[in-house]
Amino acid sequence: DHPSGVAWRGIPALLGRGGCQCWVKAMPTSDELCDLLLDLDQRSYKAYKQIQGRYAFPGFTLVIDYVQGDPFAAPSRLRVLVPQMTKQGKPNAGFPGELYSSSVRAVALRDYLARQFDRSASDLRSKRGSGKSGLISIASPGQEILERTSVLISQEQVEARFLVGLPARGRSVLGRQAAELLCEDVPELVARSLLYRNLKPDAVQKHVETAEDAHWLRQQLPTRGLVAFIPDGAVLPRESGVSEKPLREHPVAFTAPDSLRVSFDCPHRGNLSGMGIPQGVTLIVGGGYHGKSTLLRAIALGVYNHIPGDGREAVVTDPTAVKIRAEDGRRIAGVNISPFINHLPQGRSTERFSTDNASGSTSQAASIIEALEVESRVLLVDEDTSATNFMIRDRRMQALIAKDKEPITPFIDKIRQLYDDYGVSTILVMGGSGDYFDVADTVIGMADFQPHDLTQQAKAIAHQYATDRTPEGGQSFGPITHRIPLAKRLDSPRRDRDDRGPKTRVRDVDELRFGSEDIDLSAVEQIIDTAQLRGIGAAIAHIQENLLDNRTNLMDIVDQVQQLLDESGLDAFTASPQGDLAYFRRFELAAALNRLRSLEIQ
Ligand code: ADP
Ligand code: MG
Repeated sequence: DHPSGVAWRGIPALLGRGGCQCWVKAMPTSDELCDLLLDLDQRSYKAYKQIQGRYAFPGFTLVIDYVQGDPFAAPSRLRVLVPQMTKQGKPNAGFPGELYSSSVRAVALRDYLARQFDRSASDLRSKRGSGKSGLISIASPGQEILERTSVLISQEQVEARFLVGLPARGRSVLGRQAAELLCEDVPELVARSLLYRNLKPDAVQKHVETAEDAHWLRQQLPTRGLVAFIPDGAVLPRESGVSEKPLREHPVAFTAPDSLRVSFDCPHRGNLSGMGIPQGVTLIVGGGYHGKSTLLRAIALGVYNHIPGDGREAVVTDPTAVKIRAEDGRRIAGVNISPFINHLPQGRSTERFSTDNASGSTSQAASIIEALEVESRVLLVDEDTSATNFMIRDRRMQALIAKDKEPITPFIDKIRQLYDDYGVSTILVMGGSGDYFDVADTVIGMADFQPHDLTQQAKAIAHQYATDRTPEGGQSFGPITHRIPLAKRLDSPRRDRDDRGPKTRVRDVDELRFGSEDIDLSAVEQIIDTAQLRGIGAAIAHIQENLLDNRTNLMDIVDQVQQLLDESGLDAFTASPQGDLAYFRRFELAAALNRLRSLEIQ
């Protein structure tokens, strides 16, 4: 019932390619998929391979991109494409354009849909045989709203990418269960999570507006001379060390001290008042267990937008803020750490410092220089995770160990120069050394989880009790040196069969396996999602293929990746559609590159 070859070959230009293909061979329907699956019942699992392809379901298209080889292997990759309008011009997915009219709004809407899909999938999911049989899953988001490849939206359609475990008993196909899964559950999932008319419009709206307000607030920071903002009422503590959900039992809500209070008139939530942390050097002091690290962690994650109900929805931070910590054992590749460390034993150079096993202090110095190299404007440092000898050398130690026997210039002597010479602010949690009062612009004291402005008192104390330290390390911060990576393979030459570039594997947020190398990212605290690691892995593969040329420096490399990311999205880094990548910042990409043991510097 389609025209003869001769007839249609004359008009493809009029139809466009897609139109032509549809005409020649109509897409099989959901009923045909169902029949096919029933036919496959009891056959060997490999027979599932035939179902790869596209199927016309009522109201959407199901695309089976990849079929798993056995029930225990990585699950099959599927997509649904749900047109916004029906052919008759009625709403189908039907999302109002204003919900995705800017990129911030679109990212938030997509995030909402991914969560809705995730919820519905876990309601529907039932075990249907051995291995991963019966699994339906979408990359599941945490507390942050990130751009992800799991759900896409355009004026034409909504697309969701998810994984399915095709049902088996032992190694044979369970056809009826597969038919239920794909031909009943999947349409149900689409209906419950991707059709606007079935969602709660207020909740969708709130999700989008919460993200937009946070984004707007973050943009206001520089005009107010701020690097971070924490609103009154924010709930910063988390449920536990392993749960990022807000603390439920008696959280103390945040209240700004009057002297640091600022107010904003947000586009959606209206007036919002809270604590602004000014540019410059800020200390967070206070007794142990009074909420210092919790505040700093919230600030570190203020580079991301958060979901409604998180407690930190309107905590925002300069988007270039980087959390720094000591990380002994890490690799360092040719970093100029001379602003902090000089005259190592055995005359080792610190202008191009490399090691496979950094000490606490050298690792912290390198991490700071690396962050500056890719233009971070705010450093976040916590005494809990710092090397003491990197942070401070007091008068008595200066007297006992002569300067020419101590390679380290402590952070206390560099923190001001960093701001004066380069405009880089620092927020430092420091309950242990009052020597820092001399170099601070703002001192925030945490007591019973509440902030107080202790700047005047700290200055008076600094005046009263001089530290008598001798400043070290000269009059200026010193150079921030750009590095050019050598054009060489960063992974081992093992490749995927379909040549999708180096294999990356991610189990948790602490480790990225790239080719044969494990990159330890446990100290990179602003990576909060495994999907970001997959994105970073794909970006490193792209860098290896396209950007290592012995001429381009690291800053330009991560810049080019960011540009591609902004223009084309995460799909630019993968050959086939993947649903499990998420947005990452240039800082985390640089952090991963810098920790690659195979990275070498010209
Ligand atoms: P510090 O760094 O000052 O030693 P932490 O930030 O580690 O303190 O906090 C100590 C404990 O108090 C943590 O268990 C944290 O979850 C909890 N906590 C922090 N802030 C609050 C708050 N506002 N309300 C209730 N508990 C909090
Ligand atoms: Mg602490």
